Amino acid sequence: MTRKMALGFLLVVVLATSVPAEEPRLEDLRDKTVVVFTPHPDDELWGAGGTIALLNRNHNRVYVVLYTNDDKGSYDLEMTSQRLARIRKAEEEAAEAVLGTPKENLIWMGYDDGALEYAPQPKLVEEATAIIRRLRPDVLLSIDPGEWYERWHKTDHRMAAFNTIDAVRAAEFWLYFPNQLLQRDLGPYQVPVMYFFYSTPQEANYWVNIDAVMDLKVLAGTKHVSQVEPAINKYRPDWDPAALARFKELLKREQPKKDGHYVEPFRRATEFNQR
Ligand SMILES: [Zn+2]
Repeated sequence: MTRKMALGFLLVVVLATSVPAEEPRLEDLRDKTVVVFTPHPDDELWGAGGTIALLNRNHNRVYVVLYTNDDKGSYDLEMTSQRLARIRKAEEEAAEAVLGTPKENLIWMGYDDGALEYAPQPKLVEEATAIIRRLRPDVLLSIDPGEWYERWHKTDHRMAAFNTIDAVRAAEFWLYFPNQLLQRDLGPYQVPVMYFFYSTPQEANYWVNIDAVMDLKVLAGTKHVSQVEPAINKYRPDWDPAALARFKELLKREQPKKDGHYVEPFRRATEFNQR
């Protein structure tokens, strides 16, 4: 191998493990299909809501896949799971509308809150695989399963993180769930690039500046009325003004910042085995 060839080889290795210089920034994509998997109706907002707003603004086709209906998280002793699921669905539609995602693009898988880990796993991964093969995303966003550090101690988050990456793997090999090709014409599909939200700080490797849409993200957050005091204690469809002001302040305070800007951190990865 000549010195020039060796340098070329080194360059290929470096490029294979970093963001290619010619690849557009996530927030600059246009006319692409973006699929966001989220355990609950709100995680995609806290983790990637600003990025979703920017992607919608740039005329991408953004779909949000919701594993669960979030029908447990209320302290109100008069609440029922059926009613809470309806409330959470309406709140999610309102929040995503603020970010520019039409409600037709919300895909509800319909699992009960807290029950994802106890769902039949072959069925769960088959369903997620079918969604990937049908929508064929240019970019996939999901809750981070971790590259080296698995972090989830909350059942639905753990399961959604691992199930989605398992479905990414299954989607590209047609012999996983061959009935999808034979009966539904859903051919195999390789997801080109993934951005994982809720990454650990030591694993985040990509930051999207959301200054331009931070107000939209906060406004979308306020649509999740039933998740926050006072409505989480005793349901009411509106806000106490003082609680609303406190919540908005909290969202701005807790939003990660980098170099003086509001950012959303991600772990970017290009293959299901995390390289
Ligand atoms: Zn959640």
